[in-house]
Amino acid sequence: MSLFNELGLRQEIVNALTDLGYEKPTPIQQQAIPQIINASNDLKAFAQTGTGKTAAFSLPILEKLDLESKATQAIILSPTRELAIQIGKNIEDFCKYMKRVNVVTVYGGANIDEQIRGLKRGAQIVVGTPGRTVDLIKRKQLKLKDIKWVVLDEADEMLNMGFKDDLDQILEVTPKEKQTLLFSATFPREVDAIAKNYMTKPVEISAGKKNAGADKVSHEYYLVSEKNRYPTLKRLADVNPNIYAIVFCRTRRETKSVAANLIDDGYNADALHGDLSQAQRDIVMEKFRAKHLQILVATDVAARGLDVDDLTHVINYKLPDQAENYTHRSGRTGRAGKEGISIAIITNREKNSLRPIESKIGKKFIAQQVPGGKEICEKQLFKLIEKVKDVEVNEDQINPYLEGIYAQLKDIEHDELIKRFVSIEFNQFLSYYQGAEDLNGDDSRERRTRSTDENFTRFYINLGKMDGLNPARLIGLINENLKKSDVEIGQIEILKSFSFFEIDKAFAEQAVEAFQHAEFEGRSVIVEVTTKPKGGGGRRSGKKRSFGGGDRNSGGGGRERRSGSGGYKGKSSSGGGYKGGKKSGGFSGAKRSGKR
Ligand code: AMP
Repeated sequence: MSLFNELGLRQEIVNALTDLGYEKPTPIQQQAIPQIINASNDLKAFAQTGTGKTAAFSLPILEKLDLESKATQAIILSPTRELAIQIGKNIEDFCKYMKRVNVVTVYGGANIDEQIRGLKRGAQIVVGTPGRTVDLIKRKQLKLKDIKWVVLDEADEMLNMGFKDDLDQILEVTPKEKQTLLFSATFPREVDAIAKNYMTKPVEISAGKKNAGADKVSHEYYLVSEKNRYPTLKRLADVNPNIYAIVFCRTRRETKSVAANLIDDGYNADALHGDLSQAQRDIVMEKFRAKHLQILVATDVAARGLDVDDLTHVINYKLPDQAENYTHRSGRTGRAGKEGISIAIITNREKNSLRPIESKIGKKFIAQQVPGGKEICEKQLFKLIEKVKDVEVNEDQINPYLEGIYAQLKDIEHDELIKRFVSIEFNQFLSYYQGAEDLNGDDSRERRTRSTDENFTRFYINLGKMDGLNPARLIGLINENLKKSDVEIGQIEILKSFSFFEIDKAFAEQAVEAFQHAEFEGRSVIVEVTTKPKGGGGRRSGKKRSFGGGDRNSGGGGRERRSGSGGYKGKSSSGGGYKGGKKSGGFSGAKRSGKR
């Protein structure tokens, strides 16, 4: 008898699980299955994707389903179409030996008539995304009066994605007598509110620690300067020749740019983001699932619902704003009890973001060193040797040539021959990494001091200590107005009634624009490009150049402004020679430039 029989599941289901290779229930399955089969209590489960939660709620529902009735008895709500399809497919696999079970999956962006026809044939289990489910209820095509189970899968994601109203509408038309099963990786206030409103005395179960990251995932970080972020990503890919990873970026723009750079640099990568059509996204996801792609560069939103096992790494190219999103990202590796690595590439400024994540996942990040050329070459060399060992030799094809080949190589010793064969492929790598620089450490602060004029544009701002300005508030003001938090900020000098700051000169033009209507505590802000006075002292006498192009003296009064975005034409007086060109990639530093 299998361990699944012991949980109360019938033989047809157990046979299907055996076919799927499920040998024993996962912890969440061990807890949820008997609970749902034997009691009618609502259930609140802390479970991330990868813990086996789909089987945890589907199997007991299948066990208890009334097969004599064609009415819809279970509605399973999931945040994305991909996840809904995945759940639908899983349930079909689980019930393949059961007769008379109909599962219909409904989601937006697909033909509604076909879904309606499916429902009309009688679907005891409906899996749906909230929007399409509401639509079908309104059209009176989906009737929920006989519902016995409502499953809210990835409840936190559904709320994050703004489905609260849809969930309310759906839950309100379900009968009072039912079992509500809520699965969520995290329990922020909004999820608890749903639980309070719609569940009665739920039993709580957990696949692990509350809000914890997946168990076998180790969390590592690499501290580098902004300009070394992309080269670090490349080195991580190079040192892991069998990498199968999702690289998370924060914006679509960054996603496109990182993916384009990786592709240009010869990596087997592609991008997944919201600017792609659904069909394009499906193609990319399928390629990735089939392992035809090794690296998928994605935004958080686009990667939702992408269900892939066996990821070797999750790489946070940039950490997410919310610690909670980190748990979603890292939970994509280390699935079904496997080991995984979640990596954060960070700069000094981002170091503070690690702590809230550590308290959320209950684990510490381990500092790692960006691999150097020697280490990478070694890894690649042995990968090559492995390839040689494993290569399939097609005797029929190669035999006719062997005699000639042996004749040509007869004077070369065995050892020498191995060296030469290996070198054919390896030389390129060796020469690429020869003398590769050490990418470790964010020394950008030091570099800024050394080379301020070269990398940064210096600005005057009409606010100082008297106005309550301090470095933190100034950085906040810059980020808020630039609407970016990844622009490098150089030296900051807060004086009594005005201040100076430097930012990456590539963003100087954007800063000019961004501060045009800026306010600080109700006061209009004036920000102008200014020179750095020779010898360091006497900031007040620093010669400034207004955004409008006209020189003026310091003092912070009203300024002359030329209209139009391209107003600033003058060469930056900070000496950086800013010519007005914008970087295309939307991320500072990290440019593909053959950098090792
Ligand atoms: P889920 O958390 O439902 O997305 O499941 C994650 C992965 O684990 C899926 O690929 C499932 O097929 C697999 N899985 C679920 N339960 C088991 C089990 N008891 N034994 C082995 N694999 C499982």
